[in-house]
Amino acid sequence: MNSNDATPSNFIRNIVIEDLKTNKFGGRVMTRFPPEPNGYLHIGHAKSIFLNFGLAAEFGGVCNFRFDDTNPIKEDIEYVESIQADVHWLGFDWDDRLYYASDYFGQLYDYAVQLIKMGKAYVCSLSADEIREYRGTLTQPGKESPYRNRSAAENLDLFQRMRAGEFDDGTHVLRAKIDMASGNLNMRDPVLYRIRKSPPHHRTGAQWCIYPMYDYAHGLSDSIEGITHSICTMEYEDHRALYDWFLDVLGVYHPQQIEFARLNLTSTVMSKRKLLQLVQEGRVSGWYDPRMPTLAGLRRRGYPPEAIRNFCERIGVGKRESLVDMALLEYCIREVLNKEAPRVMAVLRPLRVVIENYPEGQVDYLEAINNPEDPSMGTRQVPFSRVLYLEQDDFMEHPPKKFYRLSPGREVRLRYGYFIRCVDVVKDPQTGEVVELHCTYDPETRGGGAPDGRQVKATLHWVSAAHAVPAEVRLYDRLLSKADPNDDPDDLGFKAFLNPNSLEVLKSCRVEPSLAEAAPGSRYQFERLGYFCVDSADSGKDALVFNRTVTLRDTWAKIQQAGTNPGGTGKS
Ligand code: ATP
Ligand code: MG
Repeated sequence: MNSNDATPSNFIRNIVIEDLKTNKFGGRVMTRFPPEPNGYLHIGHAKSIFLNFGLAAEFGGVCNFRFDDTNPIKEDIEYVESIQADVHWLGFDWDDRLYYASDYFGQLYDYAVQLIKMGKAYVCSLSADEIREYRGTLTQPGKESPYRNRSAAENLDLFQRMRAGEFDDGTHVLRAKIDMASGNLNMRDPVLYRIRKSPPHHRTGAQWCIYPMYDYAHGLSDSIEGITHSICTMEYEDHRALYDWFLDVLGVYHPQQIEFARLNLTSTVMSKRKLLQLVQEGRVSGWYDPRMPTLAGLRRRGYPPEAIRNFCERIGVGKRESLVDMALLEYCIREVLNKEAPRVMAVLRPLRVVIENYPEGQVDYLEAINNPEDPSMGTRQVPFSRVLYLEQDDFMEHPPKKFYRLSPGREVRLRYGYFIRCVDVVKDPQTGEVVELHCTYDPETRGGGAPDGRQVKATLHWVSAAHAVPAEVRLYDRLLSKADPNDDPDDLGFKAFLNPNSLEVLKSCRVEPSLAEAAPGSRYQFERLGYFCVDSADSGKDALVFNRTVTLRDTWAKIQQAGTNPGGTGKS
């Protein structure tokens, strides 16, 4: 055990420490991450991955990776592959401990036979609707199924024939025989097995036509693998009695289920079912659309895995439901990128600027710092010439009071370059739109200072028109325009809150020439604009494509100052 005292604790970590002290599991720590391969992983899963792999690593244990693949209707090999890639990308590894609940179908079947023989399970031939009706409600006890008292022999025969494919979907199920009057609805004779003749399972093919339900398969899979702490989200709290029941009745090894509050983030959704809808309805370009909260989307957006891990650490682990502000995640992204991302200059909405007194054909190479946070990242040479591009919104013909950037007659500094003064404005005679500026530069100000000590109030980024590389830049904003989509008194559904401006594509951007060969996935700070990364799917086909990862504005600091969101952790 190499428990690190600097690690912030949480109630689950405390349970593990206590169990190690009392030798509850023989000093072992074995957790698992059990995704169902029915969608891509999202940042909520990252919380679970970080917790499970993190605890195992901290206490010298291991974390198994297990696909909970018990429902072939919703599952797909595409998800099996993406999920593994995403966990690796996040920085975690399961060595040779990759398991599938479907590996245990034989053993789970044998356990079911055992339950039948013990009189603890029976084949029920009510329809799904009838079963629901008979279940009762929170205030009313359920009604016993007329099939509840079938003999063990009859149950065995029917269950074997279910397995052999003699019956159609929905005609029979296997149910546990527990208590139809239980205050816990999960204990009212829950279904253990149902018939599903198609589609074939992605691993077992047509070998099985009956499939175990999650509650049954999950705890027993934990038991088979020797898991010590089976960590899941709060909605399974009411299922724990059932988890325990199977293990106790069968008398097999008994892991401890522990529940924690799932991660919810503002302005997005965190359910695979809802994310799948967005994909299927074409509301996003796919699971890896950079607006999606999926790990594949965030990766493509440029989020570094380290930043996601830091975020998981910061939000902590508690039992109380909470909504974490997206601004905290973005804060964590900036924190890492600020250290790592090289600074470059790019102009998103170019305005042509001619430096009248700069000789035609001359090129000046100016030294630019790659990262002021990290001198070891060195410097580069940026070309300066007679025609430049500046950002359109860095110029105003009639500036209001607090606008300090370029305007007619005013002088500003060009980053790493010279002072320039605007002497003329060229407009489109038809539209009146400003299409070009004429400026003069002061050769004495090379490097950014004036020998006579005169000051300017703004420093602008720019690129040299002749040297700059064209690029497409995709600006992303919140997926939803409503912070808490569950606050939906009129029952509009989350799709009513989709932000129509979540993507803006700028096609005529210009980036400095050092980016010409930028590799897919590489991340940069575009000075004054934000952090951007080279799109890994589309860049390089026709043009360079950059995704805006996050702006430079730190809204999290403001939220904290206002004291409105204490980290949103719901720690308890
Ligand atoms: P979803 O609700 O998005 O469909 P799920 O719980 O059905 O998620 P699983 O594939 O079963 O998805 O999840 C694998 C593990 O990740 C489970 O242990 C689950 O509790 C955990 N998990 C899923 N969503 C979150 C979340 N938002 N926060 C923390 N853990 C989560
Ligand atoms: Mg699930």
